[in-house]
Amino acid sequence: MPIYEYVCSDCNLKFELLRPLSQAAEAASCPHCHQSAERILSTFASFSTDESGLSSPVGGNPCASCGLPSCDTCSI
Ligand SMILES: [Zn+2]
Repeated sequence: MPIYEYVCSDCNLKFELLRPLSQAAEAASCPHCHQSAERILSTFASFSTDESGLSSPVGGNPCASCGLPSCDTCSI
């Protein structure tokens, strides 16, 4: 199952959940305060550094053709 990131609208806690794709868009329950937490949709699009250690220029323009922050094909 894929991992999705959620942020609690009440306490701003970020947490990850393993859920089936079919439930990805549903609100999750915050493990801290049990309020509804919304899925963070922009994990891949707007964060330029991920936790695997890969990094790319912060604030760089996403590639117009592939949508990635950096890509070899587009020489960004
Ligand atoms: Zn919360």
